[in-house]
Amino acid sequence: MPLSSIAHAVDLTTLNTLGLVCQAEQLMDLYDLSQLPKVTEYVRGGMQVVVLGGGSNVVLPARISRLVVRVQLKGITLALARPDAWVIDVAAGENWHDFVASAMTQGWDGLENLALIPGSVGAAPVQNIGAYGVELDSRIESVTAWHIPEGRMVTFKREDCGFNYRDSMFKRAGLGHWLIVSVRFCLPRPWRAVLGYPDLVRHPGLAGTAMEEVNARQIFDAVCEIRRTKLPDPAVLGNAGSFFKNPVIPASQFETLKQHFAGIVAYPQADQSVKLAAGWLIEQCGWKGRRIGQVGVHTRQALVLVNYGQATAVELLALAQSIRQSVEEKFGVELEIEPVQVPA
Ligand SMILES: Cc1cc2nc3c(=O)[nH]c(=O)nc-3n(C[C@H](O)[C@H](O)[C@H](O)COP(=O)(O)OP(=O)(O)OC[C@H]3O[C@@H](n4cnc5c(N)ncnc54)[C@H](O)[C@@H]3O)c2cc1C
Repeated sequence: MPLSSIAHAVDLTTLNTLGLVCQAEQLMDLYDLSQLPKVTEYVRGGMQVVVLGGGSNVVLPARISRLVVRVQLKGITLALARPDAWVIDVAAGENWHDFVASAMTQGWDGLENLALIPGSVGAAPVQNIGAYGVELDSRIESVTAWHIPEGRMVTFKREDCGFNYRDSMFKRAGLGHWLIVSVRFCLPRPWRAVLGYPDLVRHPGLAGTAMEEVNARQIFDAVCEIRRTKLPDPAVLGNAGSFFKNPVIPASQFETLKQHFAGIVAYPQADQSVKLAAGWLIEQCGWKGRRIGQVGVHTRQALVLVNYGQATAVELLALAQSIRQSVEEKFGVELEIEPVQVPA
């Protein structure tokens, strides 16, 4: 098939980790930057666009009439070996975990806490992925993206990306605005272990090792093992990881909640606000392990919604809405859905 050609009636059911039944009317695989002006041309002709990476953080409708652009750009280059940092350029279509693993074999340490997060490099800045004490923005120097409607390439410095907890200006701009083509990482040297997360410190591969003796490989292995135990594998049971963000509330509201719910799980934030464990709130409402038709709440992780079979977005979002309602009624706290909901 020639570059920029569009495939019609493409089944996306196996291209989203939730396994939601979905058919795209039109799909373009983006292998080369030279295809980008064509995407802009389609938009100027009145077509709406949605960018797709690994499909691990999207809720897809049963049918998408927008043009789906699947980013397949590849390439990993060491741009600079500075005394204070490794600076690495990575194309958006690279698989995130494979990049983390290969960076480590090159000695470019600093991403090990983010191992085994599914999806692509290009999507990682969209929601500023984070895990085990590290958020992606702390490892980024710049992001280069194509503005689809205006047809121009822009490189944003980290401070201009509007990064926040599971958020960025790319996400806030909405679907069809920015298509990230590459990410420039900056991994500080000398490397320092990030071991603040309780599960990590307790892991048998790390417990008892002096902080200065821990290496990146040990953290990588521990993170992979913990994740494999805690989270369902999307290849076996459709899911998108955490389905809700952990809500952040003012300290005053937390104090009131604590009086009624002594065991409430919370993490104080630097700005005096408090982040609540959404999974705990959901569990307290009795949702853990419940199944409704083809969808349900995972038996071990209340934050993870799962697809037991041929579920559609409608069923999944109805379950999510019931959960949000219970949590709001019991705790007065609003849960926000983490994956991006793609309109038809
Ligand atoms: C089992 C499991 C565990 C997970 N654990 C974590 C975790 O620990 N921490 C965490 O933060 N997330 C986690 N996630 C969520 C998910 O893996 C990340 O958000 C990931 O970055 C999504 O990548 P993707 O390529 O699959 O994006 P997609 O799902 O394809 O897309 C997500 C969003 O990004 C946009 N997008 C994708 N590629 C581009 C691009 N090149 N340019 C512009 N926009 C783009 C899409 O339009 C969409 O809005 C988990 C998911 C699963 C299934």
